[in-house]
Amino acid sequence: MTTQVTEATVPFDEAMAAFDPVMGLEVHVELNTATKMFCGCPTEFGAEPNTQVCPVCLGLPGALPVVNEKAVESAIRIGLALSCSIAPWCRFARKNYFYPDMPKNFQTSQYDEPIAFDGHLDVELEDGTTYRVEIERAHMEEDTGKSLHVGGSTGRIHGATHSLVDYNRAGIPLIEIVTKPMTGAGERAPEIAKAYVATLRDLLKALGVSDVRMEQGSMRCDVNLSLMPKGSSTFGTRSETKNVNSLRSVERAVRYEVGRHAAVLSSGASVVQETRHWHEDTGITTPGRVKSDAEDYRYFPEPDLVPVAPSAETVEALRGTLPEPPAARRRRLQASWGFADLEMRDVVNAGLVDLVEETVAAGASPAAARKWWSGEIARRANAEGVDVPTFAASLGVTPAHVVELEGLVTSGRLNDSMARQAWDGVLAGEGSPTAVADARGLALSQDTGALEAAVDAVIAANPDVADKIRDGKVQAVGALIGQVMREMKGQADAGAARALILDRLGQS
Ligand code: ADP
Ligand code: MG
Ligand code: ZN
Repeated sequence: MTTQVTEATVPFDEAMAAFDPVMGLEVHVELNTATKMFCGCPTEFGAEPNTQVCPVCLGLPGALPVVNEKAVESAIRIGLALSCSIAPWCRFARKNYFYPDMPKNFQTSQYDEPIAFDGHLDVELEDGTTYRVEIERAHMEEDTGKSLHVGGSTGRIHGATHSLVDYNRAGIPLIEIVTKPMTGAGERAPEIAKAYVATLRDLLKALGVSDVRMEQGSMRCDVNLSLMPKGSSTFGTRSETKNVNSLRSVERAVRYEVGRHAAVLSSGASVVQETRHWHEDTGITTPGRVKSDAEDYRYFPEPDLVPVAPSAETVEALRGTLPEPPAARRRRLQASWGFADLEMRDVVNAGLVDLVEETVAAGASPAAARKWWSGEIARRANAEGVDVPTFAASLGVTPAHVVELEGLVTSGRLNDSMARQAWDGVLAGEGSPTAVADARGLALSQDTGALEAAVDAVIAANPDVADKIRDGKVQAVGALIGQVMREMKGQADAGAARALILDRLGQS
């Protein structure tokens, strides 16, 4: 049993009427290097516990670390992509504290000499405006191991009978990206926090430096938040909500903390500077450690590692490897696809950019790629709580299927409603669109005799409508097409029916 004391909160709008939020986001991202930060152990996710360890990452006496060159390159590329300055010379530092999942009793990190500092990231919001997030620093460090608390009901240490530690993750390269305090966000603070993390994730993905899987923990976010009374510019005391590990949770955590801080401050009390735990299920935070500014990790420069001193040429060469920034890429693709702003935003928000690009490359029209990936499959992926590319991959549905489906429509074999049925079959694992259409007997009638007979019968049965069309009221044809469709049990080609009706009534 956990006891979550629910603290008072003020409704968000009410809080915003009295206070301005200040936010700071700390994002930890695991690099996808083949080996760990300071040793040659592999980094693959999901191995048997404690099979990817060595004297260095277990902190055994006398073991000597060596810096992973690839990780330093990734750190510099991240820094450059965030428009940071790159330190020509910097060191690692020991951050001393005890925790069972950290076998050395210190974390090798960077303190006052980060590899990258003073950057920014422009974040595009839903309404099309841009908010610039100032980046304080991006520094290199190593991950800890993982503790598993057994016997309790929640997986937390309370109520557990014993704990297990897995050191496979200990020493995996991490980059911590810290923003400067974000001000002026106002009521858009929750949206901006979420958009920042999403934008950062896209950028890291485009750089190819990390899996950036929030659900697997390869990207983790801590949310710092404080409030200032409106009109004041003195920062309030912050809380630091740890491990907020989905985009939606980042937004919710900011919203919740705004309401909680407002309640504390409005009651005349003071906010305690502390870390907080985020509860995904209830959407609230609960107190963690009280943190004072005097917290002392006794940082000192790591004596076992040489300084990192990338030459200007190295930095420039790495700058040359930066990908097209995701925002620029989106604008380029939108222009080439001919999507309206709203259509593009939907595609972006649904995480469909890569999939649409692949589908267009495979031969589909942009409109068809957008239509099929953002329809039924997106609805179902959403219900499952996964993104469309992951969901499509799990179903074995590929861009080639969309190309094939579109071909069945343009060749005149299927109309739109038949194509939807064929797609349903594809999603249900019944095979390719053609296989589904064959198995379900989906095909427009190619029988021109039957179409002519149906058209003539419908015209004869509706002399008034027919007269209107003869007189030039062409829009009345819709009613007749519907009846022809019914006559032919939905297998008529609507375009052909329309042409034939107009022809019969002297309007072609
Ligand atoms: P810590 O080691 O305590 O986590 P960091 O410097 O790593 O401190 O990160 C602190 C984060 O909190 C930064 O993103 C910073 O911009 C932000 N921050 C600092 N002061 C405040 C404040 N008063 N309100 C909100 N955020 C703040
Ligand atoms: Mg920190
Ligand atoms: Zn190792």
